[in-house]
Amino acid sequence: MAWDFETEPEFQEKLDWVDSFVREEVEPLDLVWPGLQFTPLEGGRRQAIDPLKEEVRRHGLWATHLGPELGGAGYGQLKLALLNEILGRSSWAPIVFGCQAPDTGNAEIIAHYGTPEQKERYLEPLLGGEIFSCYSMTEPHAGADPTEFTTRAVKDGEEWVINGWKFFSSNAKTASFLIVMAVTDPDVSPYKGMSMFLVPSDTPGIDIVRNVGLAGDRSDEGSHALIHYDEVRVPAEAVLGGEGQAFAIAQTRLGGGRIHHAMRTIGMAKKALDMLCERALSRTTQGSLLADKQFVQGYIADSYAQLMQFRLFVLYTAWSIDKHNDYLKVRKDIAAVKVVLPTVLHDIAWRALQVHGALGTSNEMPFASMMLGASVLGIADGPTEVHKVTVARQVLRDYKPSDDIWPTEHLPKKKEAARAKFAEYLEHEVGNL
Ligand SMILES: Cc1cc2nc3c(=O)[nH]c(=O)nc-3n(C[C@H](O)[C@H](O)[C@H](O)COP(=O)(O)OP(=O)(O)OC[C@H]3O[C@@H](n4cnc5c(N)ncnc54)[C@H](O)[C@@H]3O)c2cc1C
Repeated sequence: MAWDFETEPEFQEKLDWVDSFVREEVEPLDLVWPGLQFTPLEGGRRQAIDPLKEEVRRHGLWATHLGPELGGAGYGQLKLALLNEILGRSSWAPIVFGCQAPDTGNAEIIAHYGTPEQKERYLEPLLGGEIFSCYSMTEPHAGADPTEFTTRAVKDGEEWVINGWKFFSSNAKTASFLIVMAVTDPDVSPYKGMSMFLVPSDTPGIDIVRNVGLAGDRSDEGSHALIHYDEVRVPAEAVLGGEGQAFAIAQTRLGGGRIHHAMRTIGMAKKALDMLCERALSRTTQGSLLADKQFVQGYIADSYAQLMQFRLFVLYTAWSIDKHNDYLKVRKDIAAVKVVLPTVLHDIAWRALQVHGALGTSNEMPFASMMLGASVLGIADGPTEVHKVTVARQVLRDYKPSDDIWPTEHLPKKKEAARAKFAEYLEHEVGNL
């Protein structure tokens, strides 16, 4: 029997260290410098954060999503899941551990598809944690369906000229380079006619029209850019992975990104459950603790069960990715995890908010932003509806239609077959009656 839910003791020791390091050293960064994770380090922030990154490196936990050839520990997805569920407690933690989205996904595709020159120019500084990157794919008129994209790249001698609009390009304002998806051949299927380009962010013609914020952000603090690419010229060597490869590259990138979000979501949902339980044990009303009220017990039980189901599903999916070493082979489960993720986080955060009463709704507790986070996770990296379609299609592959007008499990049909199978004995039984 190979099924085993134990963590090996040496790795558990590392996880225990990560748990206390994140609680004591990293979570305070979320309170002192909220929302500045993707701003280049300077002044006091650099003085505070560089030693933390160093400490992570000393423990061999820097960029563990990458193999040793790229400076990571090559842990694989299962160990990464156990690590990421702790990092999910804090929005600064992925930065301190060198594994923040979208840079992880961007690094993965450059590592996978990049030329030696592209790796030296973009990947090495990205892995060092000194620069940020941006993935510029969604357009103002189309997101979930990339076949609708119209941003165009046209060959002009030895250069490509990019024209078009992109929307919600996260961190474009602080990124050193952008990965831009554009139509390079409109005469073939979009699956073969789009390419990815590595574009330095100081290239003339990149116009960040505005940085859109999420609900609750101040109007001047958004980080999701509306970008006009206006005659942006890049050399032929800027193509990543060859002409027409954009869809294949996007799949590689998004598979990893989705499961990593799910791993961190476990940590966030667990934090909400912790707060729910603490409140239930701390607040008395109508003569007893909230923890003694059946409604609240229901909130706790439902939250625990939802979290456990989700956690086991994420760990199983991570284990499957390691086993197959191929995101595509685990597509069904990655999509299914992505489908349940927003509901789990939303439900647990909502219950935690509810038992905190007025305080729960306030900006002195994190529940409203967790609930917004749940909505965001239901849209970013593809909306839930689209992932449900993927799950359903993949599930249906294991089935075939009934071979007559009645379902296979139609009881009269099965009964008739069963009676035929035991006809000899049934006759005897009838004879004895
Ligand atoms: C916080 C955040 C960060 C993001 N960062 C980036 C980034 O860095 N780079 C980038 O390129 N993009 C980014 N995105 C964009 C994201 O990838 C898109 O929002 C997503 O793909 C959906 O596209 P859309 O917003 O255009 O919605 P649409 O494609 O217009 O879909 C809108 C809604 O229509 C419904 N719908 C869509 N398709 C179907 C279907 N097939 N069946 C049934 N219903 C459907 C769903 O309800 C969906 O939510 C980010 C988004 C968010 C929220």
